[in-house]
Amino acid sequence: MIKTVKSIDLKGKRIIMRVDFNVPMKDGVVQDDTRIAAAIPTIKYILAQGAQTVTLMSHLGDPAKDAEKARAKAEKDGKTFDLNNYIRGKHRMEPVVAYLQKKLGKIAPVVFAGEDGCYNKKAFIDSQKPGTVIMLENTRFHKEETSKDAKDLDKLAKALAEYGDIFVNDAFGSAHRDHASTASIAKFVPVSVAGFLMEKEVNYLEPIVTNPAKPLVAIIGGAKVSSKIAVLESLLKNASALVIGGGMAYTFLKAQGKKIGKSLVEDDQIDTAKKILEAAEKAGAEIVLPLDHIGAEKFDAAAKPVAVASANIPDKLMGMDVGPKTLAKYAQVLAKAKTIVWNGPVGVFEFDAFSKGTEEIAKLVAAATAKGVITVVGGGDSVAAVNKFKLASKMSHVSTGGGASLELLEGRLLPGIEFTRGREYFIAGNWKMHMTGGEAVALAKALVKSLKNGTHKYLVAPSFTALQPVGEALAGSNILLGAQNCAAEEQGAHTGEVSVLQLKDLGVSAIILGHSERRQIYKENDARINQKVKLALKHGFEVILCVGETLEEREKGKAEAVCKTQTEKALAGVTAGDLSKLTIAYEPVWAIGTGKTATPDDAQAVHKFIRSVLEKLYGSPAAKRIVIQYGGSVKPENAAQLMAMEDIDGALVGGASLKAESFAPIAKFG
Ligand code: PEP
Repeated sequence: MIKTVKSIDLKGKRIIMRVDFNVPMKDGVVQDDTRIAAAIPTIKYILAQGAQTVTLMSHLGDPAKDAEKARAKAEKDGKTFDLNNYIRGKHRMEPVVAYLQKKLGKIAPVVFAGEDGCYNKKAFIDSQKPGTVIMLENTRFHKEETSKDAKDLDKLAKALAEYGDIFVNDAFGSAHRDHASTASIAKFVPVSVAGFLMEKEVNYLEPIVTNPAKPLVAIIGGAKVSSKIAVLESLLKNASALVIGGGMAYTFLKAQGKKIGKSLVEDDQIDTAKKILEAAEKAGAEIVLPLDHIGAEKFDAAAKPVAVASANIPDKLMGMDVGPKTLAKYAQVLAKAKTIVWNGPVGVFEFDAFSKGTEEIAKLVAAATAKGVITVVGGGDSVAAVNKFKLASKMSHVSTGGGASLELLEGRLLPGIEFTRGREYFIAGNWKMHMTGGEAVALAKALVKSLKNGTHKYLVAPSFTALQPVGEALAGSNILLGAQNCAAEEQGAHTGEVSVLQLKDLGVSAIILGHSERRQIYKENDARINQKVKLALKHGFEVILCVGETLEEREKGKAEAVCKTQTEKALAGVTAGDLSKLTIAYEPVWAIGTGKTATPDDAQAVHKFIRSVLEKLYGSPAAKRIVIQYGGSVKPENAAQLMAMEDIDGALVGGASLKAESFAPIAKFG
């Protein structure tokens, strides 16, 4: 959960707010105000709460890079190039200020802080009347804004931090940028929160990767496979079908041995396409490729459209759009979805003669929205498409960020968002080999009732035999279904084992791995645990990875070394993109089921140490976000004290999770 302006007191406070006013400009005139309009609700809210001043900062193109390109083009075209004129027409913030004033009307005066840049503006800001909106000049006039050197970033960030008591980031379109005004500034302002636009974007996009309403159907189009590999792999974990369209579809068709004529192809991505097709088959996700096409002899708006009735394209043609058979298939696949995410057009929609496929997709997605399906259009060209077909308002959410929405869908942590996250506690119950199916269902039902209004994240992990009925009892509740183990192989001759595919079938969301009972009694070593962790993550499960030392190891002073080795070995090969699915449970073996609990201080010390291990592996923002549960005789009496510690983000509970009377108070602590 991210913290927003709603969660703090803004009265009398000076706000420094990052917005994304990177709007298209021509000769000093704003060409499209979508991004300005998107920030208005947050600005109005802040003003209505009685903030002292609201200082806005944004980039507006990249003056140095863009000017160089424009100069080269002018030279090529034999035209003269006036740098000042160019900068004034494209990159100065002053015209945006006038625009913003029109939008805010009498609500607040908007003043420009001046063309001389973003430094030394404190006196100017502090001299404004209460309730004034101040706009700083384009942040990218300063090379520090985008520098790769932390010292440069911090120099500008510190200067900007002077202008506010609270930092509000509402610039979703720049949230994937690790820049001074989008991320570094949060280190120097006491409180950092998100605005409403950021909140809406995260609330729609993130669950697609973490916990979508299923079935999830993803439509991924666009020209290049290479730019969409990570998103395809990420979506495969939860999608029941992946519709692949646009230029990249021809690389996939070629990988399947089809003829693609003169169509766009990335020959160096054929192997990647084959791997994605194989991964989809294993995950049980349907890949939907064009069954027929609209082709043309050349890539031209005026080219004559030629219907191609099969998946194979004749040598003299190139694929430009999908045909009617494909559209019928799209309708069939989308009809099954509860969530649809769409990124990238399925044809050359910019050319009217080849826009039908993309228009039909837009209509199908709009119709699905009307039936209650969650529909998310994730940035870039698909947004241009829904705008062209005037269907944007018919979608649940149309993202304002291209790169940022793609990176969120890839499951990455974005530097402009991480610092706004509130602490999320995760309480899980491990029911081990206790209870029959009937008893487990009765407990699940009791917990559904008592945790209905609980504010933390919950999970229970019954025995394999009770997964199905307990899953049914939990359906629609705020409690996730977990498994206590999985096989290290995907499928095959493994008598007595249960595979990730079988767990997926049962609606399991998370798997507990590396529990000390599996390590100690069933002799699972780090390599096997690592195999299981990677397999579970690959199939889109959340993983609760247990680590912890025995009494003997603790007495020999080896607690930290053991936790370090277990953590590092279990996570070998796990990439940063998978971390949103990872929870670590620190479970000192001597405390499990013994009634002996680590003191909050002792547990905190190890948690902090484990976080430092994660920091070395994945960097500080990612490590901060990983939930580290404590496990080992957690009871209603000690839960709150343990979770008051800085690095204890939840609990993995064994014995006390077997009764609603003891688990519910732990789960509802605080
Ligand atoms: C466990 O087995 O994960 C556990 C923490 O058990 P208990 O709470 O009973 O110590």
